[in-house]
Amino acid sequence: MIVVMVRGASREQIEDVEKRIQDWGYGVHPIYGEERTVIGAVGVPEADKARYMESLEALPYVEQVLAILRPYKFASRELHPEGTVVDVKGVMVGGSQIALMAGPCTVETYEQTLESAQACRAAGATILRGGAFKPSTSPYSFQGHGEAALKILREIADKLEMRVITEVMDPRNVEMVCQYADILQIGTRNMQNYDLLREAGRVQTPVMIKRGMWAKIEEWLQAAEYVLLGGNPNVMLCERGIRTFETYTRNTLDLSAVPAVKELSHLPVVIDPSQGTGKRSLVEAMCKAAVAVGADGLLIEVHPHPEQALKDGPQSLTTADFGGLVERLRPVAAAVGRQL
Ligand code: PEP
Ligand code: MN
Repeated sequence: MIVVMVRGASREQIEDVEKRIQDWGYGVHPIYGEERTVIGAVGVPEADKARYMESLEALPYVEQVLAILRPYKFASRELHPEGTVVDVKGVMVGGSQIALMAGPCTVETYEQTLESAQACRAAGATILRGGAFKPSTSPYSFQGHGEAALKILREIADKLEMRVITEVMDPRNVEMVCQYADILQIGTRNMQNYDLLREAGRVQTPVMIKRGMWAKIEEWLQAAEYVLLGGNPNVMLCERGIRTFETYTRNTLDLSAVPAVKELSHLPVVIDPSQGTGKRSLVEAMCKAAVAVGADGLLIEVHPHPEQALKDGPQSLTTADFGGLVERLRPVAAAVGRQL
């Protein structure tokens, strides 16, 4: 970290700051300027940084304390410059193959989930999505079928040789959901549920952290840091749109987050154009754009009868739409050196 002394700080004040840093056991690298002195403190461990920064900032002769390193270590690109590939029981997320995750927003019935899954599988999806625990703004709207839905997902995925991604909302359910799911989805509303993140760090099941609809990229990466620090290295991120003043689309899908996260982090990034736009008519264009900017996967809602869907019908593709979309995406993937 770097300590910027106030303009005209005295010799004694500068020495006081240097002594404090040395007493904590860290190295001191001062640059004495004509008007202003700057002191570099090296070797301060991440866990102590915030406390020491605040303590120095409280001194009247310190103007500012700056952290040099980013507030996440395990999520940072420097740790794995080559990038991370998450192995979901043989389906890779982060390699040259773009992972297709598709299925209904919500598991409603066995038949509806099967019909969606069969079409998604036939078109090339390898990961079946479907909500069993649904985060709902209204306590009166459908909350999901819970464990019964997880059983349906598992049975259908096994039958079709697919993997399962599904949301877990409650830290107490992490172990139970792991018995059925191959990827734990942490939803946008839970991105800063630290108990849930810590619990997801205790297992080895891959975790996909959706970006909080209000979250800065740095906060999102810090959420990933919780899971990584807990000992689960199998983390991927998912951009699903953020809240802005725009209301024509359900959210504003921030595609710049893909190359931005890739500069900052080694973690794979998935795009969810369904929650991202809220409109079926926009999903294909955003999928193409996502592939072009380097997304490692797509999470797409597909329903056999969107007009009958209990949730998110307007943004769900029909099973026929999905097949056509995948075919039209292939040349885009090839153009950027990837496959679907
Ligand atoms: C979903 O994937 O259906 C979902 C609820 O996602 P989000 O957490 O991004 O709203
Ligand atoms: Mn949905």
